Amino acid sequence: MEIFRTVAELRQWSRVERKQAQGTLGFVPTMGALHAGHASLIRAAAADCTNVAVSIFVNPTQFGPHEDYARYPRTLDADCALAEAHGAHVVFAPSVEEMYPAGAATFVDVEGLSERMDGQSRHGHFRGVATVVAKLLIAAEPDRAYFGQKDAAQVAVLRRMVADLRLSTEIVVCPIVREADGLALSSRNIYLSAAERAQALTLSRSLSKVEALAASGDRRADALIAAARRVFAAEPTIRIDYIELVDWATLKPVETAVPGTLFAVAAWVGATRLIDNTILG
Ligand code: AMP
Repeated sequence: MEIFRTVAELRQWSRVERKQAQGTLGFVPTMGALHAGHASLIRAAAADCTNVAVSIFVNPTQFGPHEDYARYPRTLDADCALAEAHGAHVVFAPSVEEMYPAGAATFVDVEGLSERMDGQSRHGHFRGVATVVAKLLIAAEPDRAYFGQKDAAQVAVLRRMVADLRLSTEIVVCPIVREADGLALSSRNIYLSAAERAQALTLSRSLSKVEALAASGDRRADALIAAARRVFAAEPTIRIDYIELVDWATLKPVETAVPGTLFAVAAWVGATRLIDNTILG
């Protein structure tokens, strides 16, 4: 497996593999600290495409000034081993200066979606995400790019961006990978103390409750959100950021769940902000 540090190397490799060798390229953008959730994306890409590239870049523009950019886990050697074991041919691990050359002034803002959901409490977050993913997709020109449903609002933002910019990459969304007890895997789970790890189950528990209620026929937003809030009420130390029932394409709240509606939660467990969601059937 090769490790590239520059956009020029990634672009050159991608062009050779796609044009001369007639291969397809699957791309998996990540911030590293890879876990089984990331591995599932890499495996999906390897199953679909002849070549797989994984980017590992802790993107400064998607972190707010008081967020965890400086202490975000950076484990490049272990990440490369995991990526290779699951079928990656290339890891792209650029420096901040490579992705944001001196004087960089160009950003991608997906108006209307960027300020919803996580964008409400993490102002500027989706602008940073859209900007870095646009740069990666323009550099690599992959046939497909793989994202986790775990970051469902991010998926909506990126689908809109790819459609608006007429990028040729197909967005593929992979299911949320969970621990046996239901906790969604996240690079930020390592921040949790043992007590917080137990409290963090409130997020997935609330979603199970909502899924059961919706399956029983009550699909009203008020009822579903109230049911989730009751589950959170059992763990008063957790601070809810949002609990929302939204259209997955527009991220606008809806009154009634239909198949494909997104129910999403975000909450602070101690100092760690966690997210989780379910797509209602
Ligand atoms: P990150 O490194 O947190 O930026 O995540 C990189 C990609 O992995 C994103 O598309 C995430 O949605 C995806 N991802 C993160 N956690 C999970 C998970 N538990 N299951 C599936 N995909 C995930």
